[in-house]
This record gives sequence, structure tokens and C-alpha cells, in this order.
Amino acid sequence: MTSPRIYLDYNATSPLREESKEAVVAALELIGNASSVHGFGREARRCVEAAREAVGDLVGASPAEVVFTSGATEANNLALGAVGDRRLLTSAIEHPSVLEAADAVRLPVDADGLVDLTALEALLERCEGQAFVSVMLANNETGVIQPIAEIAALVKAAGGLLHCDAVQAVGRLPVDMAGLGVDYLSLSSHKLGGPKGAGALIARAGAPLTAQQRGGGQERRLRAGTENVAAIAGFGAACRAVGADFAESAVLQGWRDRFEERLLATAPETRIFGREASRLANTSCFAHPFLPAETQLIGLDLAGIAVSSGSACSSGKVSASHVLLAMGVEPALAGSALRVSLGWNSREADLDCFLEAWGRLYKANTEQRRAS
Ligand code: PMP
Repeated sequence: MTSPRIYLDYNATSPLREESKEAVVAALELIGNASSVHGFGREARRCVEAAREAVGDLVGASPAEVVFTSGATEANNLALGAVGDRRLLTSAIEHPSVLEAADAVRLPVDADGLVDLTALEALLERCEGQAFVSVMLANNETGVIQPIAEIAALVKAAGGLLHCDAVQAVGRLPVDMAGLGVDYLSLSSHKLGGPKGAGALIARAGAPLTAQQRGGGQERRLRAGTENVAAIAGFGAACRAVGADFAESAVLQGWRDRFEERLLATAPETRIFGREASRLANTSCFAHPFLPAETQLIGLDLAGIAVSSGSACSSGKVSASHVLLAMGVEPALAGSALRVSLGWNSREADLDCFLEAWGRLYKANTEQRRAS
């Protein structure tokens, strides 16, 4: 079996940055429990607190607002655990860690994947100051960026609380929590080039929170359990590294745009999703009516190229993506979607290899269709 050589799946996870790897290895040498009062414990505590500062810095939050978690799934669950008696409103295109966390009224999106603000306003009015809204900053499948500051203004005016899953946006766009006006922000280390298994919920001072995991007093009693010091240290290092890295986005956008033009030149029937909206520079999500997702994924994998289907894949069965269906994409086309996503270690040559392999698949499939 050929092992993948070209990685174009950064929205699923990112390779570990060198800075993070060094921080993880150094932190693994620390013996103490960060809660212990002796010198070993204090050393581990300093490491956790330095990371807390780096995470807060990246999104303009104070370290006291950062709650470390095992990742964004847990951060999203912790945030939604604060809903209480409020009415939860989420967009229809959230990550499953929001959609599955609690019962909610779903906000529709338009054909570009943008939340319908008129529907939001009407629902906010019905909630009579008791709304808890959760809308992501950038979608993991299409890269489409929501107007969060505008959403925050509506939610605030209606006396509600706003949670934002910023997993895919942080590190790719400058994100300022106060500027956006959100009460809660979820982050994940492994999307930034940090280790897997670390994340954070940033909760504005005074925003209500209820512990979902009880036990010791860690993380201000909001997240019991001995801290994963090494993963947290790697997360902090990744935040420091991406903080200096936004120039990368303009380069990726140029590559992505050229890539999409070449894709359309090869196969003009290709549909690119969210192309008319403001999108992350690193993401391209598209489908061709004659090319099922499995055919593409398998063919590309054989060519050593790793991408994702734009669909949920469970027990080997690819089902149409809830994101694309919510955007009104026909189920058959939604089930054919592919996502190419770039990141800190990508090269434009990776996209050339993709286009070559995809072009071969396209040609073989269209010839087969003509012959049958
Ligand atoms: N939200 C979004 C938008 C994501 O893309 C992901 C990861 N796929 C998550 C939440 C969950 O993050 P984690 O893997 O850290 O649990």
C-alpha cells in the first residue's frame, strides 16, 4: 500500500510545527503535577501558565479567560453547558460537537453558506432576552467566514449570549475576541500545528460557565483533571508561531485561486462551494457531477495524495455533507464533494500533483461514461 506523500487535509488536522514539537518534548521532561506546591509542581505550573498567556494573546483575551480542555469538542460542549434556561440557536452548518451537544433551533444558511440574519433577528425577538447563540467563525468544509461581529451586535442588542467555534479561523485570520464581541470562543491546538488532544474555551470575564467534568479544582473548577502539560505547552508554542505567520494567508490565497481556475479549465462542470462568499484562503471545496467522492478519495490516495471528502464518512459509507445540504446543494452533488485544504507546510507543487492526478481520474471517468 502506498503511504500518502502529499498532505492536503489541513482542516482535518495539521502536521506538528517544529516549535510545538520542541515545546512538547521539553514539557515531557517535567516531572511535577501542575497543582503540586513543591518546586516540581511549580515548574509544570509555569509551563501551563506561559501557554495560557500565548493562547490568550493570539485572540486578544486575558490569560484568566482561558480554560484548557482536551480539544474543541470539549470546549464546545463546555460552552453549550452554560445554556441553562436560555433558548439555544445554532447555525445548521456547525460542527457535530455543537450540533450533537444540545437541542437547538437551527438557523438556516443561504446558498453561499452564510447565516440568514433576518431569521436570526426574528428568532432573537421570540427568545425575549433568553437566547444563547452558537455560530462558527469559519466552516471546516467550505471555509466560508460568517459575519460574527454583525451577529454579535444582534445578539447583544437582544440581551443574548454568543458562542463562536473559531477552530478553523484562528491562526488563519487575525481573531480578536473583544472586537468580535463574542462571549465564548473555542480553539483547537491541532488545527494550528500544535499537538492533538489540547484546546481551549475562552470565556469572557463574567460569562456564565458550568463545569461538565467534576473532580479537582483545576482550571478554576471548570475542568477537573490533571493538566496535559506537554500538549498544553505545544498548543502555546503553536499559538506563538502562528501569531507571526499571517502573511502566509495571502500566499495560500493566490495558490488556491489559481488551483480553482485550473480545476475549472480541466472540468468546467465542477461546482466550487462558497466561492462568492468571503472564505478562508486555505480551503477549496468542490464537486463534479460525474465523480463520486469515494472514486476520487481512493484514486487520489493511490496516487499518494491525502484530501477529505466534503462529507461525513462513517462505517465506510460516505453520506452527503449536512453543510452542503443546508446550502441547498442537491444531495447527489453534495455526496461527491471533495475538500482540499492547505497549511503552514504546503507547497504550490502539492496542488500541481493534485491537479495532475485528479485530471487523470476525471478523464478516465468521463471516457467510461461516454463508452457506457
Ligand atoms: N469545530 C470545528 C469547526 C472543527 O473543524 C473541529 C475538528 N474537526 C472541531 C470543532 C473539533 O475539534 P477537536 O478535534 O479539537 O475536538
